[in-house]
Amino acid sequence: MTKTLRIAHLYPRDLNVYGDLGNVITLAKRLEWRGFQAAVLPVEPGQVFDFSSVDLVFGGGGQNSAQTVNAEDLLARGDELRKISADGVPMLLICGSYQLFGQDFFDADGRHFPGLGIFRSRTTAGPDRMIGNIVVDSPFGQLVGFENHSGRTVLEEGQQALGTVLQGFGNNGSTGDEGAVAGNTIGTYLHGPALPKNPALADHLLLCALRRRFGVEELEPLDDALAVRAATIAAARPQGHQTT
Ligand code: GLN
Repeated sequence: MTKTLRIAHLYPRDLNVYGDLGNVITLAKRLEWRGFQAAVLPVEPGQVFDFSSVDLVFGGGGQNSAQTVNAEDLLARGDELRKISADGVPMLLICGSYQLFGQDFFDADGRHFPGLGIFRSRTTAGPDRMIGNIVVDSPFGQLVGFENHSGRTVLEEGQQALGTVLQGFGNNGSTGDEGAVAGNTIGTYLHGPALPKNPALADHLLLCALRRRFGVEELEPLDDALAVRAATIAAARPQGHQTT
């Protein structure tokens, strides 16, 4: 029987902007190309869902309204998600989901939404949006993506960032850091989607999951020449960034 990884996709109906679904497709295809399989399990508000046998978690971004609609449901799943995150289940959270995996989110009306606290971070909606292509120096190489957020995320002292902004805004446009990492749980503002453009990040998540589930120590290399070339060109072009 084909070895299968179970991927929980958080709130695909509402939290899926700027091609975020492409991240899940990338994870599934990179598994298939190596002889494994992915079972993608959508998690929607109110649905009974057992995270205990999940191998990887993905959550995308969304408008503030969509994000806050799902915030309460996410919080109700907090104990389970904190437990599997602490157990090393890899997770990738983009933008809106990333914000809700921090400690607090304050929307444009000043309403407070408590987060899961997996990242020691706090996000506050700002008066303008930070939009444009972004390049980040990270342990997974140079990452490229697209960002569009009004939320400013500030990491607490000691909270590890995903990387350093080379072009663009990142967490808040002023501290120069981007994203957050807690064990194998990664939060980032990179849409685009992130994983097809950054195969090393995709493989990091997959190797964490395959190691935990099947004891896999190494991934069969894939031909990523095209993705790498595209990322190199994207990173080299001077970018226009705007706040609106
Ligand atoms: N609503 C959040 C913000 O603007 C997240 C946006 C997104 O996910 N792209 O900060």
